[in-house]
Amino acid sequence: MTIHCDVAILGGGTGGYVAAIRAAQLGKEVVIIEKDKLGGTCLHRGCIPSKALLRSAEVYATIKESAQYGIETSGAQLVFPKVQERKEAVVEQLHQGVQFLMRKNKITVLSGKGRVIGPSIFSPKSGAVAVELENGEMETIVPTHLIIATGSRPRVLSGLEPDGEFILSSDEALTMEELPASLIIVGGGVIGVEWASMLNDFGVEVTVVEAANRLIPTEDEDVSREMQRLLTKRGVKVLTGSQVLAKTYGKDEEGVQIDVQKGEETETLSASKLLISVGRQANVENIGLENTDIRVERGFISVNEHLQTNEPHIYAIGDCIGGLQLAHAASHEGLQAVHHMAGEEFHSVPNHLIPRCIYTRPEAASVGLTEQEARERGHQVKTGKFPFQAIGKSLVYGSRDGFVKVVADEKTNDILGVHMIGTHVTDLISEAALAQLLDATPWEVGQLIHPHPTLSEILGEAMLAVDGQAIGI
Ligand code: FAD
Repeated sequence: MTIHCDVAILGGGTGGYVAAIRAAQLGKEVVIIEKDKLGGTCLHRGCIPSKALLRSAEVYATIKESAQYGIETSGAQLVFPKVQERKEAVVEQLHQGVQFLMRKNKITVLSGKGRVIGPSIFSPKSGAVAVELENGEMETIVPTHLIIATGSRPRVLSGLEPDGEFILSSDEALTMEELPASLIIVGGGVIGVEWASMLNDFGVEVTVVEAANRLIPTEDEDVSREMQRLLTKRGVKVLTGSQVLAKTYGKDEEGVQIDVQKGEETETLSASKLLISVGRQANVENIGLENTDIRVERGFISVNEHLQTNEPHIYAIGDCIGGLQLAHAASHEGLQAVHHMAGEEFHSVPNHLIPRCIYTRPEAASVGLTEQEARERGHQVKTGKFPFQAIGKSLVYGSRDGFVKVVADEKTNDILGVHMIGTHVTDLISEAALAQLLDATPWEVGQLIHPHPTLSEILGEAMLAVDGQAIGI
């Protein structure tokens, strides 16, 4: 059967389903093709399940530390299958929400694997898609516009391919039935440190091996240093500037062994399991790109500033085009693509103003340039920094760690970047993003009344600190 529509979307993850809803809101007839479950990585193997587990870990850690709040508890017991059950319930509730939104917006959902069969076969302009439905039948979609939103999967290290038992990617880790006694995490980026924080809170002995000379190496150096200090203080072993030697990998009934090299030194590590978190690879294979003129560069689909591929009627969004590989980036790109194809105005947020969040305990968040990036780009930099230990609400929450750092331009007074580590900072970063988007100066944000006592006071103070006018230190 052949379905003609205005917009077809290949992939029902965060990028795809948000694009589908907006296209329907703009009056388009929309078909979305999903081979697994609507919601994609974020809902089923990423943001939501990992944050649900992190929340359980935080509750467990807080109970263990409850004496500091004047509450004596005894015998807090971690029942990991129940933790997993709760995570599944959160995911399922949101999954039903996405399905409801598809129905509400009259979007046709096709459950099956899609493949672009090229503009030349059915229409010189359309980018038709062949869909192998779950029941084995074939369907052909002929849309006016196509959005490719096929997402990404865990990057694999040669020689350390996930086996589901001893070597895990984040996909397998999220569905563990029981916690390992110990774990080596290969890769100290965002996913690696989130798992380190979570498993440490659950009582697992954790070692993180990172090839760069610091954890979360794309973040501001001060935040990296503080993250490493706080994780180390909690008992996580952190090895930076270190490479795992895949060829030395071995396993027995005790667990895994592997050599880690740092400079001339080699250390043998043992643990119950290995978690590989070395980035994400775009899903660009077996989706029929060879039937099009679409270019793939360094593993990602190549697009212009409007998110159009080499075939102007075919757009690509989200993890499959690379960039930040974040859910809110994917959905923003989905909106941008849909508005562009509909000829509607859309103010897209520049990539560097997309907030980046890390849900460790405590959290980290940033937007804009790091101090190093700002200097490399020739800015004459001034910075303001304010510690959480001088913020009343942070002490009320029982946390003294972390800070907010503002990077500004000495000459123009522009805010170039804001970097945070501390309790609940992922809920504070949007104000910093808005300030940069609206071209506010540090002084202007510092004049805003931040209610007392709130954690948000720290942003005002850090902004004032840029010109030495913070009140609290
Ligand atoms: P995806 O969500 O990957 O969706 C792509 C969809 O396309 C999938 O459902 C797939 O089944 C489908 N598909 C692929 N090929 C085909 C085909 N041929 N036919 C039909 N369907 C197909 N981001 C954040 O912003 N915040 C976080 O806290 C966060 N935490 C994360 C934690 C982990 C452990 C991981 C792995 C990722 C996390 N991310 C987070 C990243 C986030 O999940 C991704 O950036 C986001 O899911 C990308 O959305 P997408 O729509 O581009 O792709």
